[in-house]
Formats: sequence, structure tokens, C-alpha cells
Amino acid sequence: MKAKMKRARAPSVRDRSLPFTYEGWVDILDGQGNEPVFDHFFSDTLCGLIEGLDRKNIHSGQVLLYGLYRGDELLLDNSVMTGKDGHWLQRPDLCRALQDHYHKTHEECYRGHAENGQCSFVDRDRESLGPVW
Ligand SMILES: [Zn+2]
Repeated sequence: MKAKMKRARAPSVRDRSLPFTYEGWVDILDGQGNEPVFDHFFSDTLCGLIEGLDRKNIHSGQVLLYGLYRGDELLLDNSVMTGKDGHWLQRPDLCRALQDHYHKTHEECYRGHAENGQCSFVDRDRESLGPVW
């Protein structure tokens, strides 16, 4: 098992087609200011970012999610990561939803999730960081 996890480490770190980090932008004025003032949240994994936002009671309607590539950023669709009630999905449902979406659309920014019911981002830190100004 240990050897397997070690082997899994290199591909996603080196895989440049995957975002190297995920970022959430939250308007701390909740749309009420003359212009938004953003807090920034980061995670190496999309599911880690969502979990961190959820823990801080930040709802899907309050946040813009981006996948950051080298020199590029891609706005993600929050509805992929929320249930019918509009609340964030939880792991492992969250990872599975991301995987299903990737299999349907082949949008690379959603790749890297649930293999056999487990998040395949075993080589990445699944904690989130933020808010950061
Ligand atoms: Zn995951």
C-alpha cells in the first residue's frame, strides 16, 4: 500500500494538464459594496477547497471558483459541486460528482477525482487555506 501511494505521487504533481491549485473568491461584502472586496481561499484539491468553504459556512452562491494552471485560470461551475438543495456536496459524494462530470464532459479542470469511490488526489494536500487577502 505504501509503495502504491508513493507511485501515485509523481503523476499528478507533474501532470500539467491538471490545475496546480484551486482558488475560491468570496466577496466579503456579499454584493452589497460599491465593488466586491474579495477574500481568497486556496487548496491543492477541489474537494479540499469546497470542504474548507463549507466549514466556514460559505455557500455556493457566494464564491467564484477557479482552477489555476500555469499562466491560466478557468472559472468552474459551482453547480457541479452542489446538490439539488444548493448546498455543497460532501466527500465522497463530492469527489464522485466531480468524476461523473469529468466523464460526461471531459473538462480537464474537473479531472483527478474519485477512483473506486476514493479521491485519487492522494498525493495532494486536501486541506484548504484562507481567507488570504
Ligand atoms: Zn476529491
